[in-house]
Amino acid sequence: MVVDIEKQFEEDVKGSRGEPDNITIDEGYATDENGVTPEYSLEMGIVDENGITHNTYTLREINGKDEEAISKNDIKNNIGKVLNTLLSRCCLSIGTLTKKDLGPKKWENLIKSLSVGDQDIMFLRLRKISLGSEMETTHECPSCGAALTTLYDTDELEIVPFNGKREIPFDLPRGYKDAKGEVHKLGVMRYANGLDREILAPLLVKNVGKARTSLLKRTCTFNSGIPITDDIMSSLSLKDRDYLQKLSQDNLFGVNMEIEVSCTDCGEDFKGKLNPVNFL
Ligand SMILES: [Zn+2]
Repeated sequence: MVVDIEKQFEEDVKGSRGEPDNITIDEGYATDENGVTPEYSLEMGIVDENGITHNTYTLREINGKDEEAISKNDIKNNIGKVLNTLLSRCCLSIGTLTKKDLGPKKWENLIKSLSVGDQDIMFLRLRKISLGSEMETTHECPSCGAALTTLYDTDELEIVPFNGKREIPFDLPRGYKDAKGEVHKLGVMRYANGLDREILAPLLVKNVGKARTSLLKRTCTFNSGIPITDDIMSSLSLKDRDYLQKLSQDNLFGVNMEIEVSCTDCGEDFKGKLNPVNFL
């Protein structure tokens, strides 16, 4: 929730963040060919401290300064940082909240509080207004190993709608048993956001299991109120962890990052995965 994001941000990444001047107030080209600044829609949006939902946004095109900003060594190898940086720079407003009013730091935190699903939708739109909707991607055929290049239109990608539940209740099959023998099963899970993606990206490369533990720790809360630690989340049974992962997958929304690919060599049809980083 946006209310906590600043505190969460300070706690999580004290001092390790890029320079605040990374996010400029520069508006660049925000208008279309008719001189109009178009407004687009998010699926989930953001709820502010007054309980108001903001689910529209405006963008400006990506420029050379943005390209330089995401080419920095500490940013370019982390997909979460690339997206947070680009969206913080190129998104100008979300609902009635504007980058101008909030200033660079608060704006960056707000962008990081957007759900991953909304960020992907926004990024796809940013790609389209900056470079067009035609894309080329490469995949390896799982059947014969041929290297395939597929042309597609980002407009054809499916947008999976948000189901309206901002928090997903869970009831673990086994649950966490604490030192007193009490079993904790009930709780809620929130959606992963841009800050989660940025923090988890390096972990995902090194140790998928730890990345999963960390994501669960960040997004889950037990109704009993016990503080959630890495240790608790890693001591959960595989059954519970798989249950939570499935629950989160069943509630996913945003851009469906899969396209149909046909192998030109052997005729095999398969689903090719897309990575948002390839949209650049
Ligand atoms: Zn093939």
